[in-house]
Amino acid sequence: MVQPWNSALSHLECGRCGTRYDADKPQNLCECGTPLLVRYDLDQVGRTVSTKDIAGRPNDLWRYHELLPVREQRNVVSLGEGMTPILPIRDYGTRIGVPNLLVKDEGLLPTGSFKARGAAVGISRALELGIERITMPTNGNAGAAWATYAARAGMKSLIVMPQEAPTITRMECAMAGARLYIVDGLIGDAGKIAGQAVADGWFNTSTLKEPYRIEGKKTMGLEIVEQLGWRMPDVIVYPTGGGVGLIGIRKALDELLTLGWLTGRLPKLVAVQASGVAPIVRAFEEGAETAEPWEDASTVAFGINVASALGDFLILSAIRDTGGTAVAVDDADILAHQAACAAAEGMLMCPEGAATLAAVAQLKDKGWLDGSEEVVVLNTGSDLKYPHTAAYDEPPLLAKDAVLPS
Ligand SMILES: *Cc1c(COP(=O)(O)O)cnc(C)c1O
Ligand SMILES: [Zn+2]
Repeated sequence: MVQPWNSALSHLECGRCGTRYDADKPQNLCECGTPLLVRYDLDQVGRTVSTKDIAGRPNDLWRYHELLPVREQRNVVSLGEGMTPILPIRDYGTRIGVPNLLVKDEGLLPTGSFKARGAAVGISRALELGIERITMPTNGNAGAAWATYAARAGMKSLIVMPQEAPTITRMECAMAGARLYIVDGLIGDAGKIAGQAVADGWFNTSTLKEPYRIEGKKTMGLEIVEQLGWRMPDVIVYPTGGGVGLIGIRKALDELLTLGWLTGRLPKLVAVQASGVAPIVRAFEEGAETAEPWEDASTVAFGINVASALGDFLILSAIRDTGGTAVAVDDADILAHQAACAAAEGMLMCPEGAATLAAVAQLKDKGWLDGSEEVVVLNTGSDLKYPHTAAYDEPPLLAKDAVLPS
């Protein structure tokens, strides 16, 4: 039976102090400065839907609509996002000592990165709440995704990104009709400039400053367990910038455990950062509950070049509560794994995704993984957005009548 569209959205709740907020009004942070989390009436979901019902639904992330915040189907703004494949990379896994290695390949999503999940749900809900113009600072992919979905929703967008953000993401914003500004600085500087637009009435959709992006990214967790047959892997490895995906995956699994659609222990969640910008790794190692901002942040994996994350305490508790860990990997390792995996598996990852491979290899070397685990890594974007990171030497140019060199 196909159930009518329904969202079990109940209210919003501060991730730190627990204060409740009305979900049917536009909201940003809690008064205490903390991100708000979306809460659902999970009893209602349990009474009305089962995993069998979900199985019969269209192959996109809206198949989980009861656990998403959009109340009316007509407000869904979609470009066909969700249900990306989970692919084994056994040969490569064997080479690095973890044969049971799976990649959830988010590079296939609209706009070429998993930011499409957050944008699809965030823009749909913004439309539902009557918001007409959105702004954000971005390292590129989020801006591209939100500008694109905003265009589809008939909304205006104003995007500010650092000069170093991948050129293609600027083009995506411009093509989608965004007002685009490039700042001679990092994402924190872009945030200050976007803040002026917020003061001017543009709705702030900066990472974790509105509650619904997490809900979109949560669907990665829902899909992973559904695709494994409503079962959890042993370990999930995630390239962490603002940490929205990691926080979202943990939230998804918690909701499914409460619903009884899953049983057992949560997978160990692993946050991967680049050694040139690793505030979460440092805080994890120091046993701190929050992370100090990182000075002189730099990495080739630009999507995880985040010196200071608003959700630091949520990332750290997700790692610790699940018995996970945090790992820093060098840029040189990221690029070496990117090239080696492409050649071995035909799986060309974005640098952020390749960072998870470098992390798995490192964790195996250190003995944190024994090699028997089922490990899911997230390739968070398409390699095609980062041609400058490809290990590629131009082959010789042949004359038209050249004889093929042997
Ligand atoms: C934004 C981004 C990340 C980091 O995502 P968070 O959820 O903010 O930690 C990782 N990879 C890519 C390709 C990204 O664009
Ligand atoms: Zn609060």
